[in-house]
Amino acid sequence: RPGYDVIIVGAGSMGMSAGYHLARRGVKTLLIDAFDPPHTEGSHHGDTRLIRHAYSGGPAYIDMAKRADVLWQEAEQETGTKLLVRSGVLNAADSAVYSFAGRLAEAERRGVRVERLDAAEIRRRWPALNLTDRFEAMFEPDAGYLFSERCVAAYRQLALAHGAELRVHTPVRKVTARPGGVTVHTKHGEVHGAMAILSAGAWFETLEPYIHLPVRAVRKVVGWFESDSRAFDAGSFPGFTLGTEEGGYYGFPSIGGAGLKIGRHDTGQPWKPGDKLEPFGSEASDEGDLRRVLERYMPGAAGKLLRGAVCKYEHSPDEDFIIDRHPQHDHVLVAGGFSGHGFKFSSVVGEILADLVTDGRSGLNIKPFSLSRFDRPAQPDAGLT
Ligand code: FAD
Repeated sequence: RPGYDVIIVGAGSMGMSAGYHLARRGVKTLLIDAFDPPHTEGSHHGDTRLIRHAYSGGPAYIDMAKRADVLWQEAEQETGTKLLVRSGVLNAADSAVYSFAGRLAEAERRGVRVERLDAAEIRRRWPALNLTDRFEAMFEPDAGYLFSERCVAAYRQLALAHGAELRVHTPVRKVTARPGGVTVHTKHGEVHGAMAILSAGAWFETLEPYIHLPVRAVRKVVGWFESDSRAFDAGSFPGFTLGTEEGGYYGFPSIGGAGLKIGRHDTGQPWKPGDKLEPFGSEASDEGDLRRVLERYMPGAAGKLLRGAVCKYEHSPDEDFIIDRHPQHDHVLVAGGFSGHGFKFSSVVGEILADLVTDGRSGLNIKPFSLSRFDRPAQPDAGLT
């Protein structure tokens, strides 16, 4: 039947990147999305995402982060757009709740630049932080943040320039596979392809029972707060993660007067496709959880709430990614469960998916991301963003 080499269901962070990597290799690619990416319905909006390289739990993430970083720089050059700011990322935590030992050891083993800081040194460098002596930190000078909508837009522009097709406002209702082919059933008719990539973010449930991913979506909020410009503006303040007895937080300096941006990594209200996504402020904890931590640890950034946004995480049971083939259909790839820390890797996840299509394998170790691991009991690793 006429059709495409690859049909990508979900042209968000991962799907758009895969579309670019495939199209530039001359693969006839169709991207389909229910919205018009970048958009504010999924997991990639809200201006910024941290990119850090010092991960614990085996070398897979560090190797992927290094490759992702190179690919972001390439995308910047190809589009002439600023995507990545190397602000450094300060990971600070109350030693009673979190230890950096595993991440520091893995980073040092694998050549990621990291600095260990005690509380006095943290306070000396960033006097606006109000941290007790129990705090310690791992500073990553080469880390920073990505402009996430710009990244998705950049891959969209590049994918189209290399010949990919994109259908927006086209929800996929069903996918069916047969040996050597797939049919994707959309609101606007059927399309046929030799292979498919399913990268549906928070909406994998809409593709059941064809594919079942053990993914649980949650509603997440972030807020931008008026902050002391000398201390918290981009240029003087880094990206950060903050492990406290109140919970795990992360954030960004104030960029262009937008205010310090902060979000909470743990917690979140369950959400599933079809549910209304309640706007920022509909729960008292939306602002309250953020303000409480700002007041205690960054009082100079606890000003007026300037803006709030609502987004989604898709948690896998162990909070590691799922990048694999469909259990019954080898020619269908799945990429999901990015568990609130996937954006930084979207450049390389797209490349991995393209490698699986064109070479049948990836040079990076994606074994930790197999679907079959869920046949064994899971060990969640909290605190990654
Ligand atoms: P998405 O980007 O949401 O893409 C999925 C796409 O699939 C969407 O465009 C959707 O419209 C489409 N789709 C779904 N179902 C269908 C269908 N049936 N038919 C057609 N289209 C469909 N990561 C980091 O690395 N660093 C961070 O600092 C960080 N902070 C975060 C902060 C917040 C508030 C949030 C929400 C996430 C954060 N993340 C971070 C996580 C990261 O953004 C996500 O892991 C990543 O965006 C997930 O990409 P995705 O492609 O799976 O989902």
